[in-house]
Amino acid sequence: MSTDRDIIESKQDAEGKNKNKIYCTFCPSKMLNAGVARLVNINFALPYIHSKAEDEANQSEIISDYWLIEDMYTFENIGVSHTVGNVKYLACADCERGPVGWHDLSTKRSYIALCRVKHG
Ligand SMILES: [Zn+2]
Repeated sequence: MSTDRDIIESKQDAEGKNKNKIYCTFCPSKMLNAGVARLVNINFALPYIHSKAEDEANQSEIISDYWLIEDMYTFENIGVSHTVGNVKYLACADCERGPVGWHDLSTKRSYIALCRVKHG
């Protein structure tokens, strides 16, 4: 039996980078090429994916496994939903579903939640 940790580790290459390309879970939009993001363990409360915008602020879940992207230009496609303080929430560039992660305006780093994207 494989644990969640095994599943997460299977998505990394020997250098801790993403082994596979990363796609939107709802459409074929490609967000990242393989080998460009590093796995980090960080607790961040990300709002749930909702169809109705008015629900967005109400609920969030703590996610702790993220792909760290040092430079916004690394993304093949990424959209931005809304900004709260120093945080810009990231969404699919094509279907606009999200948030799939966040961008920190002070460090310029971006984080994509492993559980909100497809690895293919
Ligand atoms: Zn999409």
